[in-house]
Amino acid sequence: MSNESLSVDPIYADPVFKMAKRQFEIISDHLEIPADRRERIIYPKRAISVALPIHRDDGSVEVFHGYRVQHHLAMGPTKGGTRYAPNLTIGECAALAIWMSWKCALVGLPYGGAKGGIRVDPNTLSAHELELLSRRYMQEMLPFVSPHTDVMAPDMGTNEQIMGWFMDTYSVHAGCAVGEIVTGKPVSLGGVSGRREATGRGVVFLIERALDHLSIDPAQCTAIVQGFGNVGSVTACGLAFKSGMKIVGISDHTSALYDPEGLDIAAADKHVAEHGTLASFPQGERVDPETLLTLPCDVLVPAAVERVITAENAGKLRCRVLAEAANGPTTPDADEILDQRWEEVFVIPDVLCNSGGVIVSYFEWVQGLQKFFWSDTETTDRLYRILETAFAAVIKRAKDRKISHRTAAVSIGVERVMAARLARGLFP
Ligand code: GLU
Repeated sequence: MSNESLSVDPIYADPVFKMAKRQFEIISDHLEIPADRRERIIYPKRAISVALPIHRDDGSVEVFHGYRVQHHLAMGPTKGGTRYAPNLTIGECAALAIWMSWKCALVGLPYGGAKGGIRVDPNTLSAHELELLSRRYMQEMLPFVSPHTDVMAPDMGTNEQIMGWFMDTYSVHAGCAVGEIVTGKPVSLGGVSGRREATGRGVVFLIERALDHLSIDPAQCTAIVQGFGNVGSVTACGLAFKSGMKIVGISDHTSALYDPEGLDIAAADKHVAEHGTLASFPQGERVDPETLLTLPCDVLVPAAVERVITAENAGKLRCRVLAEAANGPTTPDADEILDQRWEEVFVIPDVLCNSGGVIVSYFEWVQGLQKFFWSDTETTDRLYRILETAFAAVIKRAKDRKISHRTAAVSIGVERVMAARLARGLFP
């Protein structure tokens, strides 16, 4: 079956959805999935679009647009983040939901994927407006979510407080406290300590694992981290203080900074906590954000948005390890180039690299359902055990079948989703 064989439902017409679809076609060809099964596996079970009117602080009424896409419910509830971003589309949510499905299946979680959010720049809202909008969003989602249907979590632009408001809105409606409706909520509401750091910690664990596999000493390495939000900042701190690396480049949406002698990551982290961005951080040379990705380093971590490693820059990357902390940072065209460069650039694909977040979300959900809480050590040990198993499975499959790490990782996920859907059969 040739590439580009699947149709695109116009509601999903978005470059990120097209990218997820193309990636799936490559995997389907590899797994020789029959044509009549492909659409059934790739298309989301449902996509919800809601209008969200709120009173702005100045007394006016403004309508925002919210989405949620649930990819499949074959193995349990869907699971995934809620993103607040000014250009969010339902097609992007669909792609991110599909990637969540492969990710959860790869690491053995009993979930399908979901993703949703609101088309808004949260920085343009007051705290009060943010609360109204968040509550309104959960209110509109009530018919489509439950702890056994769809469990939300933070993503770009959202945080623990927003999960707390979601939980409260759902619980008021239910008439009792339902902590297990969301993960990544405040610890005082049943959140797991370390959930916020979990994605970045997982990224650091996997980078160390990859370097060990390549017999490279982390303490001799340099790193560049693109994105200084939750995932990027925790990863940069972990690489600097746990792995002993020199962080030579960091960036956020305002600035890209480079210093071959190493940046003071503790100072950068403090600066962002106080000022919100890196804009006025006094260290490092200001460089073009595109250029930052192609500067020499041992470890490159894209930890921001999709589609930043493209056919234009994939051949120019000068890293030994590409650790995809973001979802979908590398386009299929870039993959073709990186496949040729597999001996130079070791890729830790996104579905593996950033899976620490949803793994700890799963722990939070299980503990919430059982009302039985674990120690921090138990959480961390179990996280690392799951990551280790998934890393080993990806490396083994890639070696055995002579395929890229991405094809290995995604194909394990797709196989498991397909097996569950086939076992469920088609009703009626
Ligand atoms: N938003 C995160 C992700 O993309 C976490 C999702 C979750 O914890 O459910 O993996």
